[in-house]
Amino acid sequence: MNCEICGNEIDKPKTVLIDGTQFDVCENCTSLGKQIEVPDERTERNERRIQRTQNFASKPSFSSVELIDGFGKKIMQSRQKKGLTIKELAMKLYEKDSVLHRIESEKFTPSDKIIKKIEKELEINLREQ
Ligand SMILES: [Zn+2]
Repeated sequence: MNCEICGNEIDKPKTVLIDGTQFDVCENCTSLGKQIEVPDERTERNERRIQRTQNFASKPSFSSVELIDGFGKKIMQSRQKKGLTIKELAMKLYEKDSVLHRIESEKFTPSDKIIKKIEKELEINLREQ
C-alpha cells in the first residue's frame, strides 16, 4: 500500500492520528501525527474490503434481465411525456446523456442498475414479466 500522506510505497504502514483522523503512513510521516496502535481494526477493515470486492466480482457486469421489445422507444416516449430532455433525465439518473442516447436508440443495453433508475424515474416497466 501507499502512504496516505506522501504517497510513498510502504510495507508496514504506521497508523497516526492527525487532527482526529487516522492515516496509514510511512515511517517518515509518523512525525506529522500521533502514532496509535490499531492492529485489530486494520485487519478487520481489510477483511471487509476483500469481502466487498468478492461480492462485486460475482455480480455480472452485463444486464441479466430481459428487456421488453422497444424499450428504447418506451423510455423516449415516457421521457417526452414528462417533458424532460435527454440531458435533464441523464442528470436525474446521474448518467451521461450520451449513454441515454444510446439506450434510447437501443444501441446499448443498460445495466440492471440503470434500468431500475429509469423505471423509477419515469414510472415505467422495462422488463419482461
Ligand atoms: Zn509518507
